[in-house]
Amino acid sequence: MTDGLWAQVLGELRGAVGKNSYSSWIEPLRLAELDGGVATFDVPTTFIGNYVDQNFGDLIKHHLAKAGSNAQRLRFVVPAKTQAAPAPKPKAAKPAPVTNPAISGSPLDARFTFDSFVVGKPNELAHAAARRVAEGGPVTFNPLFLYGGVGLGKTHLMHAIAHELQTRSPELNVLYLSAEQFMYRFITALRDRKMMDFKSLFRSVDVLMVDDVQFIGGKDSTQEEFFHTFNALVDAGKQIVISADRAPGEIKDLEERIKSRMQCGLVVDLHPTDYELRLGIMQTKMEGQMKLYPDLQVAPGVLEFLAHRITTNVRVLEGALTRLFAFASLVGRTISLELTQDCLSDVLKASDRKVTVEEIQRKVAEHYNIRLSDMIGPKRVRVLARPRQMAMYLAKHMTSRSLPEIGRRFGGRDHTTVMHGVRKIEELKATDSQIADDLELLRRALRE
Ligand code: ADP
Ligand code: MG
Repeated sequence: MTDGLWAQVLGELRGAVGKNSYSSWIEPLRLAELDGGVATFDVPTTFIGNYVDQNFGDLIKHHLAKAGSNAQRLRFVVPAKTQAAPAPKPKAAKPAPVTNPAISGSPLDARFTFDSFVVGKPNELAHAAARRVAEGGPVTFNPLFLYGGVGLGKTHLMHAIAHELQTRSPELNVLYLSAEQFMYRFITALRDRKMMDFKSLFRSVDVLMVDDVQFIGGKDSTQEEFFHTFNALVDAGKQIVISADRAPGEIKDLEERIKSRMQCGLVVDLHPTDYELRLGIMQTKMEGQMKLYPDLQVAPGVLEFLAHRITTNVRVLEGALTRLFAFASLVGRTISLELTQDCLSDVLKASDRKVTVEEIQRKVAEHYNIRLSDMIGPKRVRVLARPRQMAMYLAKHMTSRSLPEIGRRFGGRDHTTVMHGVRKIEELKATDSQIADDLELLRRALRE
């Protein structure tokens, strides 16, 4: 009975954690017992047990409950057999041809190529460095360390390097791995007493790429091995590419010598996207969508709207576009601004930055070069009154504060004063292009 239940949970987990994590961490688990609210798992090593508990424990409990179990607690046990002293190898099996199982890397996404990577100011340096590595010429900087926030294209660039190298120089041994995979390989090698194989395999690589190395921080023995592999490869003149979500110096619990070694090469960061880059990416991705849904029409301004509003990361932007096209094709309608707002209201809301009245006052005062105290103070001269009204207008439109609340924040003014200010700007916006431009500029600045 537990088998069926666990099989179901496994299915859910595979979807939830992704292929890589699934094969590294979830697959090795065996549900041994489900009793008295405790789910007991056999795990190959204590490390795997701890790791799974910390990183996937809640998720496992959640899916166990969903599948109808009452497990409140998880227990990870290394079965006595595995812990026992070196078991004699069963009948010294005759050496089978080894097809380098450990050398196959993490799977590469075929869509992540240089062709599909849109270059803009925020990523041009990272892109240029990746291109250089992909040419496969003499190693000029080692390692190449790419870092930046989630969804800014680190993995995309690494896969692009791998694809390009495989096409240009198929004889090169290119290995791309997530840091989790690296750890997992290392742990299984330790467990199976195959460290020699592990070492020689890794050291036979021509280009090693390890993605998301921030995960190695704190894992002492893995760090140690990573460091040795790293040094051996650098000494042999092999190229290494590493990515992380932050600069080497900022990775927690990473040994100093590893940090400094990583800083020896070229460290480049992918900056947060700007509007132009987001628009460029949207245009490229839209072409892809149009191939899937050739009949759909997109109203002008939709892409600009999305590039403007979804500023978090490219993955979210991409997801939004996919959803939008699927939705529009379902309901058989043109992708208008209105449809976009309806379909993506949750994404749009989530990426709306919460702006405060105080921030608005500060930004507007800065913009018009007046003192913040004058913005709030009683003086009514025009040079102060206009910016004040602008700030009131923005406060009304960009925050959820009521008119009386806004009035209070402007030195205790009455809500009718605020209303008057808001109306004034509404009028001017239509007739005075300078005011309209200022508003747009301020709005954008506040949203970033
Ligand atoms: P990271 O590894 O930095 O978290 P990814 O490389 O996985 O981010 O990128 C997230 C998604 O955004 C991927 O689908 C990727 O193709 C896309 N993406 C990111 N940057 C760009 C870009 N400059 N051009 C095209 N697609 C991009
Ligand atoms: Mg990534």
